[in-house]
Amino acid sequence: MERRTFLGSPAAALGAAPHATGGPPGELPPKFIPTAYALPRSGYSPFTTPDYYTYANDLVIERPRRGQPHQGKVLAAIQPHSDDVPLYCGGTVAKLIDEGYTGYLIRVSNDEAAGRTLGHGVVQNEIDNHAVAKPLGCKKAFSFYYRNHRMDDDAEIEIRARLIFLYRLLQVDTILTLDPYNHYEENPDHLVVSRAAEAACWMAGGDKDYPEHFRAGLKRINVREKYYHARSPQGHNLVNRIVDIGAYIDHKVRANVANVGKGPAGNAGARLRRELAKQGKKLPLLGDSDDTANFAYVKHFLMEDFRLLGEQFGLGYAEAFRYIGPEPDYSANLRRYIDEHAAPL
Ligand SMILES: [Zn+2]
Repeated sequence: MERRTFLGSPAAALGAAPHATGGPPGELPPKFIPTAYALPRSGYSPFTTPDYYTYANDLVIERPRRGQPHQGKVLAAIQPHSDDVPLYCGGTVAKLIDEGYTGYLIRVSNDEAAGRTLGHGVVQNEIDNHAVAKPLGCKKAFSFYYRNHRMDDDAEIEIRARLIFLYRLLQVDTILTLDPYNHYEENPDHLVVSRAAEAACWMAGGDKDYPEHFRAGLKRINVREKYYHARSPQGHNLVNRIVDIGAYIDHKVRANVANVGKGPAGNAGARLRRELAKQGKKLPLLGDSDDTANFAYVKHFLMEDFRLLGEQFGLGYAEAFRYIGPEPDYSANLRRYIDEHAAPL
């Protein structure tokens, strides 16, 4: 990990903006300072990075770490739908698990809106959710089965309570999920799930909420780290952590290929290969089988915006987050000050 100041000064920010984004020079009059940075886009898929990021001045680039620094820790990757984690934070999930975390995948929807019929969507995405967990290295996948695109009609408090139960049961240290403050988000499920997941972090650590859990043997848990990712194709997010996923891009690709029922990946490469063959053509990058076609399609087209994002930071591929880390030990800090400064009466 490397801590650095990304924007040294307002003047530096203005000068750096066109180069940082790879876009054309800005047209802002001198009295204005850019506060959001357009992301370079391949134009291959809407399911990649948002339009703008605002970067915090204490931006951290999280690089691969040797050994198992997260041994003994537990993460939960929470997704409304079967394609959210693979598309938006699959590289980081795979990285953290490879570095020692025990990982769990939690899907909240039944994904009925993604299939040949509603019923087919439910079954296929149930299968996919388990298949997606494997290349990411997750130990187990859960599903809550709320109806797709209708979660603003569900009781958010119930989703939150179910997450509190799982946080306590699994003793979750870290979550990865959609940013609860995704601007311009159009999907109601994303907003409901991210809000519930965020509030559940705080409440899982208390001893007054759902006290029957403790009678059943569960223990409180403080969820100490949160990685919130963007989604909206036209979105704007605050980012303070860029994760280098270069070593895990193939894990991410395989997780997306496993997502057959939903999203832009699955068998898209094989379908394209067949379509071209009917026209007497082929795209050499797709290789000579459905498997090579599916993998290459995802890596070449759907991961391209994550490569372009990484390029901005000198990385092969990257994912971006609003990261919230462990809170300081407030009482220990107070005690230290008091011990150092207390004077005799
Ligand atoms: Zn989704």
